[in-house]
Amino acid sequence: MKEINIAVIPGDGIGPEVIGEGIKILKAIEEKDPEISFSFTEFPWGCEYYLQQGKMMDADGIDRLAKFDAIYLGAVGYPGVPDHISLWDLLLKIRKSFDQYVNLRPITLLHPELTPLKGKSGSDIDFLVIRENSEGEYAGAGDWLYKGKPEEVVLQTGVFSRKGTERIIRYAYEEARKSNRTLTSISKGNALQYSMVFWDEVFEEVGREYPDVETYSYLVDAASLYFVTDPERFEVVVTSNLFGDILTDLGAALTGGLGLAAGANINPERKYPSMFEPIHGSAPDIAGKGLANPLASIWSASQMLDFFGEEEWGRTVLDIMRDLLKEPELLTPDLGGKATTQEVGDRFADML
Ligand code: ATP
Ligand code: MG
Repeated sequence: MKEINIAVIPGDGIGPEVIGEGIKILKAIEEKDPEISFSFTEFPWGCEYYLQQGKMMDADGIDRLAKFDAIYLGAVGYPGVPDHISLWDLLLKIRKSFDQYVNLRPITLLHPELTPLKGKSGSDIDFLVIRENSEGEYAGAGDWLYKGKPEEVVLQTGVFSRKGTERIIRYAYEEARKSNRTLTSISKGNALQYSMVFWDEVFEEVGREYPDVETYSYLVDAASLYFVTDPERFEVVVTSNLFGDILTDLGAALTGGLGLAAGANINPERKYPSMFEPIHGSAPDIAGKGLANPLASIWSASQMLDFFGEEEWGRTVLDIMRDLLKEPELLTPDLGGKATTQEVGDRFADML
């Protein structure tokens, strides 16, 4: 019997609505599979908590989360609470404390009509973006000099350590080898002559240990073009924090939008819990109305299943998602339908 202890942070806005449906699916799987058991422990942290208690999470929050196998997060964010608080005091704090240096974003088209691409391009989009999640352009290094003066200068430094660059690239090679896919590195060595030249060198160096993996290396500008004109060429992609952030939103746009985009923040060594979340925010405009699409959070639950070695269930969840997307009456409004968040989750659970 496999027991997976999950810390649940439903968060704000549509977070609790979509996470509720993800948990519904996990519970349905637990019921069908005598070998799996989940425990769910909820934490009320987020912006509402901040407005009442003056803090996004309790002071011992990280210590408490450390005892779990995984964290399942809805969304945090609320009008009136500045992003630097909601983001830094919860999401980024968790990512950093638990050294979740791998961000996994599947870019897979589950139904041909979900892509805005026309013609032959885009019918078979199916790749995985592995984004560096701990340093790079988002390391928070820089300076603000002569503020307000005519000679004002602002510096934002990308930080690429040997350790940080090697480990993400190695993870990507392992993933490509394991799944027998090609590996594409996306960088910008022609303009960023320190960080990206280093990145390219490490990509080549580590690659010598993986002669069996077929590799490509693109500049980020060219890669953005290929994402749109020829997305089928990508299988496994590895890229830096900033480029990964931008490219994965582009990828989401190619495959059905935010209502379908899932992400996993992984600590591969499993020393700390990994975190699974839909990548959308709290969407205050549609919160509390049953309009939110729960498929992104269900998809991130399937990433969790994969991570714990339950790939067969992970695949089953995606197959059901494919079937469900064929039924116009089971689509939420973001996909042009009229179904509610709960209706989608209920029907999904029935189809398991
Ligand atoms: P945050 O600041 O928390 O990121 P945001 O309003 O900037 O929030 P998102 O919440 O990510 O951005 O979403 C932008 C818009 O996309 C939302 O306002 C909503 O209309 C739509 N959206 C996002 N997620 C979903 C979803 N799961 N289902 C349906 N629509 C969604
Ligand atoms: Mg947002």
